Amino acid sequence: MRPLVWFRRDLRVRDNAALSEACRIADDGVVAVFVVSPGEWADHDDAPVKVDFWLRNLRALGPELAKLNIPLRIVECASAGEIPGAIAALADDCSCDALYYNHEYEVDERRRDERTVERLARDGGNSHGFHDHVVFDPDEIRTKTGGFYSVFSPFKRTFIAIAEERGVECAGLPPKQIQIEIESSSIPRAVDGFESSIDPSLWPAGERAAHTRLERFIEDRIEAYKDERDFPAIEATSVLSPYLNSGVISARRCLSAAREANGGRFDAKSGGSKGPGHWISEVIWREFYQHVLVGYPRVSMGRAFRPETDRIRWNDDREMLDRWKEGRTGVPLVDAAMRQLASTGWMHNRLRMVSAMYLTKDLFVDWREGERHFMRNLIDGDLGSNNGGWQWSASTGTDAAPYFRIFNPVRQSKRFDPQGEFIRRWVPELADVEGDSIHDPSEIPSLLRSGLEYPDPMVDHRKARDRVMEAFDAIKQA
Ligand SMILES: Cc1cc2nc3c(=O)[nH]c(=O)nc-3n(C[C@H](O)[C@H](O)[C@H](O)COP(=O)(O)OP(=O)(O)OC[C@H]3O[C@@H](n4cnc5c(N)ncnc54)[C@H](O)[C@@H]3O)c2cc1C
Repeated sequence: MRPLVWFRRDLRVRDNAALSEACRIADDGVVAVFVVSPGEWADHDDAPVKVDFWLRNLRALGPELAKLNIPLRIVECASAGEIPGAIAALADDCSCDALYYNHEYEVDERRRDERTVERLARDGGNSHGFHDHVVFDPDEIRTKTGGFYSVFSPFKRTFIAIAEERGVECAGLPPKQIQIEIESSSIPRAVDGFESSIDPSLWPAGERAAHTRLERFIEDRIEAYKDERDFPAIEATSVLSPYLNSGVISARRCLSAAREANGGRFDAKSGGSKGPGHWISEVIWREFYQHVLVGYPRVSMGRAFRPETDRIRWNDDREMLDRWKEGRTGVPLVDAAMRQLASTGWMHNRLRMVSAMYLTKDLFVDWREGERHFMRNLIDGDLGSNNGGWQWSASTGTDAAPYFRIFNPVRQSKRFDPQGEFIRRWVPELADVEGDSIHDPSEIPSLLRSGLEYPDPMVDHRKARDRVMEAFDAIKQA
């Protein structure tokens, strides 16, 4: 048996379900493949910084696979439609008789995989999919009546009950394979259309880098996580999302490390301490949004989770949207957040909520515009979590913020960046503004403000709030 292991968002050798099982059953070597698929990536708004991160992680993965005697082949396909044929041709060329892969849960990816499995079956090959991107099969966690959860808290309770019962096991390195006469491909340095301008040293590639990040977080920051996680000027969160979403580290590894730090428990309430318990909860949010992708496929297709909210007539104001994208809204915390995204490919969670609420509530622009902009710029862009976060903020999603809960961005700024430290870091034109005016420079007398070169706010928060309430009230009544 010689399996072909198809790497996608699981760019690691340790604790990789498909790779471990392929290596266990193989007796005539293992071949690995990664598909460079620019058409599919463009269709899915994958960001250049994310594609660059994939390529750099593949360059780290190649030598790790070589140590196991597994050659890594790169196949190029202009579009997703070409993938089934290309995988079948490679399996044939390399005399592989089975395909091993870890599931992806988005609708297009599932259809692509189904077509690939069918294509191989026609040639007599069999395929084996594994649940690895998440801890448990998202289809398996169900409500008492057998449905999918649409609210996080009960999902989390069930998830923790299953985790306590079964445990969360991590696999180590797979066994070394016999040497076979197949050469590895060279890995492209860049892919046309996905040239990243973001400093790659911000995001070191490879499993070692991911594990070091996890270890340091657990040692230095997890205890204070609950208290400090909302303050963007403090490095209080793990910043593991790029590694989790590209599969450079497994969610199982993260959960089991946090569980150890939590006195062997998954839940803060059952004896664990608050920091680790809270972090575990965040990792479960990621699981929840993959569950939503499976249970409610409409969210993968640009539709609102709450169908009635698709009747909202959003404000189609291109200039406002552009100013939001460029970080020139006149609301310093929002601008700082948008500039952090543009410069680093990442944004702090509190700021994702603040900037998403600002776009959808203050500017009343369609959440899909913001979702797309985030996907096109985030190194950790993930349909499930991104769509979930956007629909939560727009009050159109699962477990949505009630529509009358509208963040006041200036109050958020005062609360979560009290000294304006984060704002000053990213909006240098405000570096010399003193006191509370850093949160709302429009309150500085106009004579003094004229030298600032900083725009006035685009909307009045109170009026914007009334407009949102009216729009949501109208669909509620209808
Ligand atoms: C509008 C919006 C868009 C978002 N888009 C994405 C996205 O494309 N990709 C993405 O991974 N996360 C997204 N998030 C969730 C969250 O902001 C990031 O996961 C988090 O900021 C990553 O930083 P961290 O690794 O330091 O997280 P930590 O606080 O250290 O949390 C650990 C891990 O838990 C998961 N996690 C934490 N918070 C959430 C959450 N609210 N939802 C889902 N998973 C979570 C992530 O995998 C994260 O790496 C979005 C949130 C919002 C509000």
